[in-house]
Amino acid sequence: TGLKKHFPLKGGLLGGTTGYVYAVDGVSFHISRGETLSLVGESGCGKSTVGKAVLRLFDITDGQVVLDGKRIDDLSPAALRPMRRRVQVVFQDPFSSLNPRMRVRDILAEPIRNFGLARDSKDLDERVAKLMDTVRLPRDAVNRWPHEFSGGQRQRIGIARALAAEPDLIVCDEAVSALDVSVKAQIVNLLQDLQTELGLAMLFISHDLAIVEHMTHRVAVMYLGKIVEVAPKRGLFAAPKHPYTEALLSAVPVPTPGAARTRIILKGDVPSPINPPKGCRFHTRCPYAFDRCRMEEPKLNHLATALDAGHVAACHLHDRPEAENPLAVAKGA
Ligand code: SF4
Ligand code: MG
Repeated sequence: TGLKKHFPLKGGLLGGTTGYVYAVDGVSFHISRGETLSLVGESGCGKSTVGKAVLRLFDITDGQVVLDGKRIDDLSPAALRPMRRRVQVVFQDPFSSLNPRMRVRDILAEPIRNFGLARDSKDLDERVAKLMDTVRLPRDAVNRWPHEFSGGQRQRIGIARALAAEPDLIVCDEAVSALDVSVKAQIVNLLQDLQTELGLAMLFISHDLAIVEHMTHRVAVMYLGKIVEVAPKRGLFAAPKHPYTEALLSAVPVPTPGAARTRIILKGDVPSPINPPKGCRFHTRCPYAFDRCRMEEPKLNHLATALDAGHVAACHLHDRPEAENPLAVAKGA
């Protein structure tokens, strides 16, 4: 809630703080048990920083992180420990996130031991064996080293390691981005199956909207440190309510022949998070920007849509009459 992470810029003659990178600048969302929320946007928009804040990998600048009704952003290291077990991560790169000097058995046993989950060594072995079943790897592979596995298999081990802690929430940061296309699909299917089987909540951070469409329940779109739109998947993909989302979606291939979306090419580059534009942060690239956009920051507002409840977007266009709203006209929504 109201999450901010500003990184100080050091420099100048006295080495003091000369400014801030406004990496995450007031972001709110929730994820329910058994739900996948995807956080999408171009690289540098702050989505990984949000993931790290949820994982409590650093102190946040402002806002709250709440797990099961309990604030975890202001806990002491000792009080945070049991909470850490409940939020686990799967990283992008299965090649560098596994310790090459540890056998798979030890990689999986480590979190079980650290969080004191096993009764005895027999229970520990059983837990490790079950984790291998869970991620569909052969049990006898626990004796092997990470380098003996393919990229997809290593990511299965990474997932098993996250599950070893019996978490409630898993943060997947570009967890399938480094994998080949066919392997990608297998890992996405595995994550989906596990979520259903285990009732996990998942924060799925990705720049790949085609993958997101396949596996998510809801989507939050980030641009330059802010969430600009949140919606259930169906509503977002069928009728985006923010011009940035519309542009992102226009680049996603449509499976139906002849139903290709018109590609919207955004002008210019993403502005620097050190000095974000005033008003709507997207106004320097938005094809529909008008005077108000340069002056006033739009708030995330609920939009009554035919498709879904819970669709919010931050764009001044929705205050205009429908006939003057290019998003509504184009989508007929
Ligand atoms: Fe574009 Fe204005 Fe909407 Fe921002 S508020 S997305 S600049 S139309
Ligand atoms: Mg990232």
